[in-house]
Amino acid sequence: MPLISAGTMVLDGQIRRPGWLDTSGGRILGCGGGPPPRAPDRDFPDSVVVPGFVDMHVHGGGGASYPVAQEIGDAAAFHLRHGTTTTLASLVTAAPAELLAGVRALAGAARRGTVAGIHLEGPWLSAARCGAHDRSALRDPDPAEIDAVLDAGGGAIRMVTLAPERPGGDAAIRRFLDAGVVVAIGHSDATYEQTTHAIGLGATVGTHLFNAMPPLHHREPGPALALLGDPGVTVELIADGVHLHPAVVDAVLRAAGPQRVAVVTDAIAAAGCDDGTFRLGAVPVEVVSGVARVRGTDTIAGSTATMDRLFRAVARRAGLAEAVQVTAATPARALGLQRVGVLRTGYDADLVVLQRDWHVAAVMVRGDWRVPERG
Ligand SMILES: [Zn+2]
Repeated sequence: MPLISAGTMVLDGQIRRPGWLDTSGGRILGCGGGPPPRAPDRDFPDSVVVPGFVDMHVHGGGGASYPVAQEIGDAAAFHLRHGTTTTLASLVTAAPAELLAGVRALAGAARRGTVAGIHLEGPWLSAARCGAHDRSALRDPDPAEIDAVLDAGGGAIRMVTLAPERPGGDAAIRRFLDAGVVVAIGHSDATYEQTTHAIGLGATVGTHLFNAMPPLHHREPGPALALLGDPGVTVELIADGVHLHPAVVDAVLRAAGPQRVAVVTDAIAAAGCDDGTFRLGAVPVEVVSGVARVRGTDTIAGSTATMDRLFRAVARRAGLAEAVQVTAATPARALGLQRVGVLRTGYDADLVVLQRDWHVAAVMVRGDWRVPERG
């Protein structure tokens, strides 16, 4: 069975130089620091091996969008080439029939293993903080609609982002939690107190912290401080240098610690493409110099980021182990995903080989080289 070794490996959160990893049947059979127990099948003496990235918030990439049926595979494949081995597929706000159709298309992709599950971003969001979401399709959470959506998902819905202050918010949180769905707070105009209440009900994620929520004010700390302050909450950060100042990323990493920070791309179809016109759901988006905005406005509309780029940004500022934690282990744990996010015996053999400059050289998914070594 394939045994690989590398100059540097991050195993179980620890940096090993050198390190080795043995795989069998798609799983990690054993791993450790120091010289490998036998001659390796593949040796990467100048490379760094890290866990495959886990992206819990992404709408598309490489010109392809979730949930367009014929584009789902292309979007996932694009991000795989950038090291994402586990991905949710995020849906934006849509009218009821369109929402159900999107959920059904993605549920099929989840059953095939193309994506690890669905993230419903809306339609139960705040009109005051809707960002690039179609304001006309926002609505209060309705128990019958939630049941229909859960039904259409057939267990594939892994996370929902909602604004807890909307009428019916408490009942919606309870219903999603009952169905095993992770509840995230975002696109919200909630007060600090409303947010704390929602966390008390069981919300465990803050969707792209600071984006699409009131800014932190010293007398009105709002959702941002409530999410940041609760040890049971994981906060998403779009660490692309556009959505957040790098100093804010640093401050959140210090305040919450890497165990509570999940770096996400929030990428749209435009990731990996030249500047131009795209769509995010029904909303037209213009990309200029790699920054996506709702056409004719200043509103940022997702990103053109990839996880490898965000990994490099965090690794340069905070360090290798921290970058591994926020791009793999933390999001996997926040989503309750088993056997991914860490290189550990018994876990899936999902890994990224990075060159010395931390660019992706190769990607393994469940023991298969899905992206063979470049150059
Ligand atoms: Zn999004």
